[in-house]
Parts: sequence; C-alpha cells; structure tokens
Amino acid sequence: MCGVFGAYSTKGSPVLEDIYLGLCALQHRGQLSAGVAWTDDGTVRIKKGLGLVHEALSQNELAKIDAHAAIGHVRYATAGGTRPENCQPLGADYAQGPIAIAHNGNLTNARALAAYLAYKGAIFQTTCDSETILQLIAHQPGAVPLEALETALSKVEGAYSLVVLLNDCLIAARDPWGFRPLAIGRRGEDYFVSSESCAFDIIGAEMVRDVEPGEILVIDKRGIISRKRPPKPRHYRCAFEYVYFARPDSVIDGRSVYRTRKELGATLARCGGCPKNAVVAGMPDSGTLAAIGLAEEAGADFEAGVVRNRYVGRTFIQPTQRVREAGVKIKLNPQPGIFDGREAVIVDDSLVRGTTAGRIVSMIRGSGAAKVHMRIASPPVRFPCYYGIDTPTSAELMAAQMSVPELCRKIDADSLEYISCDELCRAIGLPKDELCTACFDGDYLEEEEKNDLLGF
Ligand code: AMP
Repeated sequence: MCGVFGAYSTKGSPVLEDIYLGLCALQHRGQLSAGVAWTDDGTVRIKKGLGLVHEALSQNELAKIDAHAAIGHVRYATAGGTRPENCQPLGADYAQGPIAIAHNGNLTNARALAAYLAYKGAIFQTTCDSETILQLIAHQPGAVPLEALETALSKVEGAYSLVVLLNDCLIAARDPWGFRPLAIGRRGEDYFVSSESCAFDIIGAEMVRDVEPGEILVIDKRGIISRKRPPKPRHYRCAFEYVYFARPDSVIDGRSVYRTRKELGATLARCGGCPKNAVVAGMPDSGTLAAIGLAEEAGADFEAGVVRNRYVGRTFIQPTQRVREAGVKIKLNPQPGIFDGREAVIVDDSLVRGTTAGRIVSMIRGSGAAKVHMRIASPPVRFPCYYGIDTPTSAELMAAQMSVPELCRKIDADSLEYISCDELCRAIGLPKDELCTACFDGDYLEEEEKNDLLGF
C-alpha cells in the first residue's frame, strides 16, 4: 500500500511540481510519508518527510527546482515499520552514478537477500525491503546500470511496481506477476509513470497504457524503450485494488475501478441480497459505489443514509474512555429519519476485523431500522496478504475465525451476505488466472527457488 510517481520531460521542462501534484492524487495509497528524488549535476537529491504530501513537501520549493526527471513516493508502511529513514524514495550515488528508487509492493525474499548482502559487506541504512534492490545494484559496481537493475530484479521475489532514476533515465518496472498496478501517461513531450491513472488527470496528461507485468520501460531523451522479460504462465494482479484500495476514477489493466465496484453491488443484488422495499445505503466512501450498483439492480431506494465526517482522522481524537464510548459516531452518523421502521441494506466493500460492520449495524438499528442486512461487496477475507496490502494475521481476520452465520451473529445483523471469488473475477472482467485472490481463497503465488544469488 504505497503510491509511486515518476516524470521525464524529453524537452527539458521542470517536472517536480508535476510529481507533487501526482503524489497528491495518490495520497489514498499512503499517508505515512511522502518524498521526491531527482538528480543534480551527477548527484542524487532527495526531499522527504513524515505525514501527508503537503506536510512532508513544499510545492513552492519543488516548483523552483530545475529537474527534468524525478520520482516520488507516498508510503503506507507494510514492511519496515514507521521510522523516518524508511521514507522513500531511497537513493545513493554508487559506482555508476546517482540512483533513486520508489517501490510499491512487498518483496517476499527481502530478509534472505539482506542477510546475503550484509555478508557481502552491505551496510543497510533502513529496514525497508526496497533497500535490497538498491544494494543489489550497488553490489554490481562494474555492470552497465540498466543491466545491474535487471539482474537485481531477477533476484527479488514478490511484488514490485517501481520507478527508478538511473543517471539520466527514468525507469518503470512491474514484477512479472503484475501484483501492483503501474501505468504510463504522456503530455506532449513529457512522460509520466504512476501507480494509478487518476494521477494523470490532474496534471493534464493522457493515459498511454499500463506497464505490462514483467515489463521494464526505459524513458530518456529519445523517448520510451520497452524491455520485456520472459512471460510467466499466469498473472497475479491484485483483486483488492478493485475492491477497496484504488481510487474509483482509475482504470487498472484496462478495467474501470468505478464500473467494477458498481458491478460488485449489482452482483450482490442478483444473489437476492436486497429484500423488497428495503432502503439501501453504503458505508462512505468505501461501500458507496457498490450500494448504488446494488440499489440500481434491485430497483430499491438508495439513500446517503450514513454521513461521514471527513475531517476526523485517527490522529485527531485521542481515545479516552468517553471518546471510545462515542466510538464510530464521531466519524459516522446515520441520517435521521431515513431508516425509521424500514429494512436497511448496508453495503461495505470488505469486512476485515468486523469492527466497522458491528458498529454500523448497531448504529442503524439504533436509528429505527426494523431490520439491518449487511452486504459485503467482496468474498470473506480469510488470508493475510504478503504482496503489499495491509491485512492483519489470520488470528485477527474475523472470516478466518468463524463461519458466515457466526459472523452474522457476531455483528448482530439480521443477515450477512458476501459474493464468491468467481463472482468477483467476473465483475472485474478478468479470468481467475489473471488475478491474485489470495486474501480470499489462499491461492498464493509459489515462486521458483532462486539459488543463484552468488555470481555478481
Ligand atoms: P474492519 O472494521 O476491520 O472489518 O475493516 C473493514 C473496513 O476497513 C471496511 O470499511 C473497509 O473499507 C476498510 N478496509 C478494508 N481493507 C483495509 C485496509 N487494508 N486498510 C484500511 N482499511 C481497510
């Protein structure tokens, strides 16, 4: 759960303000830290800090810097904890010049690689899995930089969508499985790389296409060159991006996130998920589109029945006992009069620990609903994610611990329904062997053993 953004102007225009704006559009992918990197006279320069983009970076300062190639990152810590030194981009001036990288995804063999690199003399500056890529490159001091990057990527396992500054090149790379999204945009002579296409809209760029799984794109003065690696038998594009994580105005691997979410709601309706004369409401904002899709398909009333306070973040209100008792009402409040005496169908995108669903059911009941039916626009989340989405361990995943009827009783709903994994794939519009559904069905990628670590 991070966002990456890169820009290269072949006509030499400054791009750091574009990076700032691109990161603002990707803010939903990570709020822990933000940073940018560019090169100046053969040296890597980095500005980064904790917090939201506008807290960590100064738009005014960045707009004054004359760099025609740069990368940026917003971080949600999944690997490496919350230390300031783990903020990205990570960069260094190594034997072949300046290098900086920004990474989205989790490397599943980072620990073994780090141990090997430390044995070879590497001194790690962070506890971030992404640093292993940087170190693998630096440990090939005599290799052509692009080849060193390709060799480094052949040694890492798991998920990576990367933007890299290497001397005067911008490089975009997506792992051969395609776990995390990555797209290319263009505005005249300027090229952009982004975790999500929504970031192109705000800088006036057009989406060109997705970076393909396994593709390495090199962008320099001459334009874009694509280097493809041998294809894998199947892909693992993250289905949870469509369910929850990505912005609805993004198109990922040719599929609109907005349409997919509405279709997920319609699927719930087709499974008989909406009693006659029920009033349908979505959890703002994660369940809204699925709720609209459900109501449209069922011919039921949709109401903005739950109001969300957008300004109360987790950090603003301290959890004293009194506040804890007020609970979720500080953030979410039912619209008075909407549910009186009626059956309510409440839709959310996913149920993880079950906290939100339990609270919302009691809140809607308390506001006068005759019955409260909970509908989840994805299958039960039963398995942790090792590829970059922040899910808790199985012990904390409610659906891993109990059956759906038990879960329904636990959240005190009159009924609880999910969709199946097949229905999820159908709503996205990709076959099962193009998608990663591991958090729902445990179908994890089994990577081939890589025993060829030595040999730099
Ligand atoms: P829970 O209350 O633990 O069951 O979490 C479910 C709620 O968290 C839903 O409203 C989701 O929209 C949201 N959600 C789902 N996955 C994540 C995630 N990885 N990080 C943060 N929120 C999430």
